[in-house]
Amino acid sequence: MNTLPRNGIFEMPRLSYHLEDLAPIISKETLQVHYGKHLQTYLNNLNALLPESKFKRCTLEEIVQNSSGVLFNNAGQVLNHILYFTQFQKPQIQNHPHGRLKNAIEKQFGNFEKFQEIFEKQGISLFGSGWVWLSLDASNHLIISQESNAGNPITKNLHPIFTFDVWEHAYYIDYRNQRAEHLKALWQILDWECLEQRYTEKIHFHL
Ligand code: MN
Repeated sequence: MNTLPRNGIFEMPRLSYHLEDLAPIISKETLQVHYGKHLQTYLNNLNALLPESKFKRCTLEEIVQNSSGVLFNNAGQVLNHILYFTQFQKPQIQNHPHGRLKNAIEKQFGNFEKFQEIFEKQGISLFGSGWVWLSLDASNHLIISQESNAGNPITKNLHPIFTFDVWEHAYYIDYRNQRAEHLKALWQILDWECLEQRYTEKIHFHL
């Protein structure tokens, strides 16, 4: 993904679903606040900082990889939330990976259930605010990692495939303090077509 500003500003990501579509896993109210207010604020902050920065003609990914401080925090949160909000679809009862990503997960983690368990544990054990990620490294290995605050694995030369947001604003309206329950439910709305596409693009990138 290479996200460029249009006419000097970055734009909100378009969603392939309506705000009520992810319920009951993520409610419309949570999306109104999380997408409509939190992400919009990070985006406004980033666009306000951009003209005075040296990153005016850079992609969002380049800004995240090369900036620091308040610019990094806002650019990181914009990139993280774009990846997050565009990875979902309506809840599916049997929602499993397929294709090449399924094969890679099974080869590396044994089976999908074992992978889910490790991924959820990383989300539960992350202290404070942050993100848990599945990424691809330069040797095409899958990596599960935690990032605090606005962190994104592209700063470690990893290519992100999907992420669970463990900031409280992601789940507090629907799940209160039950982060583990929220993370367990999120599997039902992952759009594995989208993730397969992200994975395949990145695999090709390395070949
Ligand atoms: Mn968030």
